Amino acid sequence: MPVLDAEFAVVGLGAMGSHALWRLASRGKEVLGFEQFQPGHPFGSTHGKTRLFRTLCLEHPGLVPMARRSIDLWRELEAETDTSIVSLCGLLNMGATESGVIRGVQAAAAAHGQAVRRLTAAEIRKEFPQHGRVGDTDVAILDPIAGVARPEAAVLAATSAAAAAGARLFTQTGVIDVTVVDQGVRIRTAARDFLVAQAIVTPGPWLSHLMPGLPMLPTRTPLTWFTPSHDPGTFSVDRFPAFIRDLGEGNRIWGHGSDTDHDVKVGPEDDPHYSLVNPDLVDRSISTDDYALVSRLVSEFLPDLDPQPSGVAACMITRTPDHQFLLGRPYGDPRLLLGGGDSGHAFKHAPGLGEVLAQLACGEEPFTDIDFMDPNRFR
Ligand SMILES: Cc1cc2nc3c(=O)[nH]c(=O)nc-3n(C[C@H](O)[C@H](O)[C@H](O)COP(=O)(O)OP(=O)(O)OC[C@H]3O[C@@H](n4cnc5c(N)ncnc54)[C@H](O)[C@@H]3O)c2cc1C
Repeated sequence: MPVLDAEFAVVGLGAMGSHALWRLASRGKEVLGFEQFQPGHPFGSTHGKTRLFRTLCLEHPGLVPMARRSIDLWRELEAETDTSIVSLCGLLNMGATESGVIRGVQAAAAAHGQAVRRLTAAEIRKEFPQHGRVGDTDVAILDPIAGVARPEAAVLAATSAAAAAGARLFTQTGVIDVTVVDQGVRIRTAARDFLVAQAIVTPGPWLSHLMPGLPMLPTRTPLTWFTPSHDPGTFSVDRFPAFIRDLGEGNRIWGHGSDTDHDVKVGPEDDPHYSLVNPDLVDRSISTDDYALVSRLVSEFLPDLDPQPSGVAACMITRTPDHQFLLGRPYGDPRLLLGGGDSGHAFKHAPGLGEVLAQLACGEEPFTDIDFMDPNRFR
């Protein structure tokens, strides 16, 4: 009988994988972590200094417990590693009463009994004058447990907490394939093969390379930063909190104010220029097409920002057909677990998703319903 190298392996230590590794190691489990680059690198989906953190998840009411668990786990991780990961400044969900953003946030709040503050158009104009073109029927719902999270800091904290708890890290180590064998799962790398009882596969945009047959859409999605045309203080994060704004006609913008280490961030929910990519070949050079749409939306809806971005960086998301994540056992195999299909909104849930992956790996009941994320739902 061959000897196992460890009980578990996590393949891909980005947002989901680093937190799964930490949650397994913190249970005292023997776990190996494989990452093709260095944790916190800028080549996948988890770089660019900030992400929005929200608990009134308009994408699905079932994500509210995931976000709530995530902030609790991040507070633990911050204390354990002396790192700042999430700053709560509140988030304005804005749009017409019947818009997708307002309806989604109301559904999330109602499903979980979350009290919210609702602002009228007049209140938005008075309290947040940075937002231009607020229509008379627009409203805003303030998510109080929301703000700005730091992706690179979180990944580094999770991997270092995992290592401190005994996880063995293999960085700069690309996994060539993950194969179910009689004795468990074989993880093949250029240097050698590893045998584990279960593998947790979390390779972000590279998912299709390791697990073919899932409908993954890795998409190049640039990050864009802006500066005020005058009076920089009006756009600092304490005066210009995080927001998602439904513009109607199928588009939204999201963003947050500046802080000591970053400018104002604004991005569109979608852009016809976004393109499907092979993550190994993604074009990291920047062209004016990368920010033409967001610049136009900034000049229309945030007129006191300079519409010429102060920074642009290539990044990726991996969409699924229904824009929900994949979480669970692909192909129904008890030796494999999968976390992926981030669909552009998974960073805020990384600790919760990592916790569920650890629970499933250890045969525990997941802390929340994950049926809507079943990785086999498209088959
Ligand atoms: C522009 C933009 C804005 C966003 N805004 C938000 C937001 O405001 N809020 C939010 O919650 N989310 C947001 N997101 C989404 C969020 O960033 C992603 O959902 C999240 O970072 C995805 O993490 P992941 O673990 O799936 O992928 P990744 O972090 O990319 O992790 C995958 C890891 O696996 C490694 N890997 C892959 N293949 C192998 C292999 N064969 N061997 C070893 N290692 C491998 C990769 O190198 C990588 O480190 C945004 C994304 C973008 C692009």
